[in-house]
Amino acid sequence: MSDEPIYQAKVLDHSKSPRHYGEPSRFVARRTGVNPLCGDEVTLYLDEAQVLQFVSKGCALCRASASFLTTAAAASPRSGWSELVPGAELRDVARAFPSRLRCVELPWQTFAQLLGELAQE
Ligand SMILES: [Zn+2]
Repeated sequence: MSDEPIYQAKVLDHSKSPRHYGEPSRFVARRTGVNPLCGDEVTLYLDEAQVLQFVSKGCALCRASASFLTTAAAASPRSGWSELVPGAELRDVARAFPSRLRCVELPWQTFAQLLGELAQE
């Protein structure tokens, strides 16, 4: 990706070594989001231990954003999940590349949908 060198180091790190990556063998909830503009697809899983995990296809920015999300969720009580927002590093990237905003937002929008489904149960 040609714009990759100016991504912030932390974003690059998460894209290369995504946290909480993988499909759990058992999960209590799952939600997939798609960004047709970029071909991104991200699936979030809530496993039985209430850990948020993900798998993604598509661009590095979407993967990094999902990794930030699962990391933020792991550091927050479940009651605070609805208030999680992309961090400054991600917002900086989205500001630099407005066309990539969807890539950053996709995991977070998918997460909001997952929480909405859980709230209805
Ligand atoms: Zn993308």
